Amino acid sequence: MLGLMQQHPLLISSLLVHAERHHGAQEIVSRRVEGDIHRTSYRELAARSRRLAKALAVLGVGMSDRVATLAWNGYRHMELYYAVSGSGAVLHTLNPRLHPDQVVYIADHAEDKVLCFDLTFLPLVEAVASRLKTVKHFVAMTDRAHMPASKIAGLLCYDELVDAQDDRYDWPQFDENQASSLCYTSGTTGNPKGVLYSHRSSVLHAYGAALPDALNCSSRDVILPVVPMFHVNAWSLPYVGCMTGAKLVFPGAGLDGKSLYELFESEKVTVSAGVPTVWQGLLAYVDGAGLTFSTMKRTVIGGSACPPAMTRAFQDKYGVHVLHAWGMTEMSPLGTVCSFRTKHLALPPEERLALQAKQGQAIFGVDMKIVGADGKELPWDGKASGELLVRGPWIVEQYFKGEGGDPLQDGWFPTGDVATIDPDGYMQITDRAKDVIKSGGEWIGSIDLENVAMAHPAVAMAACIAAKHPKWDERPLLVVMKKPGAELTREALLAFFDGKVAKWWIPDDVVFVDAIPLGATGKMQKNKLREQFKDHVLPTA
Ligand code: AMP
Repeated sequence: MLGLMQQHPLLISSLLVHAERHHGAQEIVSRRVEGDIHRTSYRELAARSRRLAKALAVLGVGMSDRVATLAWNGYRHMELYYAVSGSGAVLHTLNPRLHPDQVVYIADHAEDKVLCFDLTFLPLVEAVASRLKTVKHFVAMTDRAHMPASKIAGLLCYDELVDAQDDRYDWPQFDENQASSLCYTSGTTGNPKGVLYSHRSSVLHAYGAALPDALNCSSRDVILPVVPMFHVNAWSLPYVGCMTGAKLVFPGAGLDGKSLYELFESEKVTVSAGVPTVWQGLLAYVDGAGLTFSTMKRTVIGGSACPPAMTRAFQDKYGVHVLHAWGMTEMSPLGTVCSFRTKHLALPPEERLALQAKQGQAIFGVDMKIVGADGKELPWDGKASGELLVRGPWIVEQYFKGEGGDPLQDGWFPTGDVATIDPDGYMQITDRAKDVIKSGGEWIGSIDLENVAMAHPAVAMAACIAAKHPKWDERPLLVVMKKPGAELTREALLAFFDGKVAKWWIPDDVVFVDAIPLGATGKMQKNKLREQFKDHVLPTA
């Protein structure tokens, strides 16, 4: 016997329809690349998205056609999120920080038909335009007054396209399993692979993301997504915004500490989200200028491990609660968030901080397990570590165009991360499988060592990599970037590890560098460091 409830497909357009009807006056604020602060509302956003959907149809964009963006977080990008997916086409968010050759590879692979870009990225688009095989229209995301002189023939003006249409448009209804958007993995080895989200997976993920034990978003919140809309749909915050009716604040290109801080304060931001490297810049600015946060309540930190020193600074110094989160492009991206249970509220501060080094508990919709080298499930005792596998309705089943074959193992997606899970179900990533340091047959997790180093007041950033060792195969080598003007010796830093980790985990050597290479999504590129230090001779060798 089937249930007797209404059948409404879970479509991305339904989020916008909801926001317009129920939170129409709520504000959306954007710092524009044109240099000003722009204000709009969900009502206006919905109307412009309908106009844009009509404009895309005029350009010949049909069902499942790919429309690419090279853009910062802003209201026009948000309009594209809704107009493209809502009309049945597929939004392909390109990462502008990638090498131009990679942009060409990805746009060709995706067979993008239209490319919309912020003015910042005009030089990049001009450099690749003639090599893009499938792109028929290039659209500069600006108004007529700011249209640049360009070598691109027939360059279109975004605002003109929108203004040429009226907003009488009904969002088409179709199967919720239709593709909605496409995002490529960062691909440190081999070519990037496309993850093709569906309307259903995106809406379910937004429900999960907004939950109290996840990002905990409501209509009372003012959300500033620092995480880019070109990196896994800004962790779904543009969808969560419409779903909850929260005020959204988009930082555009202003991702430095000062620009972010000013926006946090002037727009009374309560929630933010981003990778640790961005927060480092913000904390350095706020520290240096002796400022405080007057409205910020919490920030979600993920994409790389959040060092406890950062959690401590946010919480103890500024009263901003940290939610450590873990996920990946293949997971839309959210998997776990480290929120507290009732029993944790009474823990001494140091124990709570230790708990927050974990990536946390699974959100409903994500199941996880850890397995040993033999593929057998390992116990949840907080000690056994193995590869982390996940499954659920917003987790990838296959990559776009079947690239790389069937990624699943018995219906589970292997994440490539190594983790422990404690008896309460709190997961902790110890490493990427390929970054684990294998010392005399035992594994050393580099994240633990980096967390210790990052707690030293003179350290700005630390990466721990495996260096060759004649006896132990591999031993930890710590690569450190000091804070500007800070004094620190190798010996002092190694002594700092005493008592904080097992003796045999203490790195064998420290090298100081001017900068640690970061990838297009702000992660430390350890493959580059391993290459750079492949001939490093450890003093213990
Ligand atoms: P991406 O698909 O680019 O978002 O990268 C996903 C990968 O980033 C994961 O598989 C992890 O290796 C890493 N990652 C994400 N969040 C965290 C976190 N909180 N702690 C440690 N690693 C993380």
